[in-house]
Amino acid sequence: MNKIYFDNAATTKMSPDVIEVMHQVMQSDFGNPSSIHSYGRTARTVIEKSRKTVAEILNASTGEIFFTSSATESNNMAIFRSVIDLGVRRIITSATEHPCVLNSVKSVHEHHPEVEIAILDVDQHGELDLEHLEKILSSSDQKTLVSIMHGNNEIGTMHDIKAISKICSQRGALYHCDTVQTIGKFQLDLQDLNINFLSGSGHKIYGPKGVGIIYVNHDNMINAMIKGGGQERQLRSGTENVYGIAGFAKALELLDHNKTEHNQQVTLLRKYLKEELVKHVHGVAFNGAKGNNYLPHVLNLSIPKSEKTELIMFNLDINGICASAGSACSSGTEQQSHVLSAIRSPEDRKSLRFSLCPQNTTDEIDIVVSKLKEII
Ligand code: PLP
Repeated sequence: MNKIYFDNAATTKMSPDVIEVMHQVMQSDFGNPSSIHSYGRTARTVIEKSRKTVAEILNASTGEIFFTSSATESNNMAIFRSVIDLGVRRIITSATEHPCVLNSVKSVHEHHPEVEIAILDVDQHGELDLEHLEKILSSSDQKTLVSIMHGNNEIGTMHDIKAISKICSQRGALYHCDTVQTIGKFQLDLQDLNINFLSGSGHKIYGPKGVGIIYVNHDNMINAMIKGGGQERQLRSGTENVYGIAGFAKALELLDHNKTEHNQQVTLLRKYLKEELVKHVHGVAFNGAKGNNYLPHVLNLSIPKSEKTELIMFNLDINGICASAGSACSSGTEQQSHVLSAIRSPEDRKSLRFSLCPQNTTDEIDIVVSKLKEII
């Protein structure tokens, strides 16, 4: 059975060019980058070239880019260290952030109860009221970190990060932006945006798992979360994941270079998928932005719940279709995800997320839609 992979917001298939670069590093550039001999120096060069590639794409300086194990680590780092090192006493975030942000914020509050937390509600489209953000920011002069993502991984709603960064800088707040779903796909010019911390992840951009980045603006440098031998200029100890880092840089370079084409292709596929669902699936509705501020690779739909929809993910899977549900099953009961709860998605509807890549085809969409129709 040919499998159909419509779960590209969860992870992506690695690009062959990325695999080739990583293979070369694994095979030949295996030295420890901290060693002073030639093998070490070669591995160090791989890292520094990769850092330069990332910095140039983000229009940042190389001194502001650090490699980590994941965006989860990067987000934890920004949130915890801004409290510990920069005197942040209030964190404002949104109800639809990734769990690695929301749980970091929760944990910060448990360890530092003096830090105030404000979680902004979103509307039924997952959109934020930026006037409300401004109002909260002006209600106190506590040193504040605002943590708001660029594009939502579940429903695809994108936030206006240029406007948010402007509000934050006008109000003297630090801005942390999780760009996991957008880095490489959208231009992120850090000279133009007032962003203090930014995170990205290799495996969402056709690169490897287990590698991420954090951008830390040089005006708000932080100290290490992981302490040890002082790698990554003292910010993130641990022998570097050299082939992962090389793979991250190659993946970002390729995607950045092809971003217009990439987005055009997934936009066309998404449009076709949406149209076919409307034509063939009774009662279908869509979650996400009301206008054009959506991730072009993500389509979140809902259908009326019934006995048949209970096992829908399982049924799709046995038919070789990989998608994602907006819910988690815990202790035998299916619970709505925090994002679907935040947009007040009705309990009597079942949500599914299809997320696309340019290699998906309209033939695959036809198969998925006809399977859905059959199951429902
Ligand atoms: N932030 C967002 C928006 C994500 O979609 C994800 C992964 O699903 C993460 C953070 C975590 O990234 P990583 O898998 O690199 O820890």
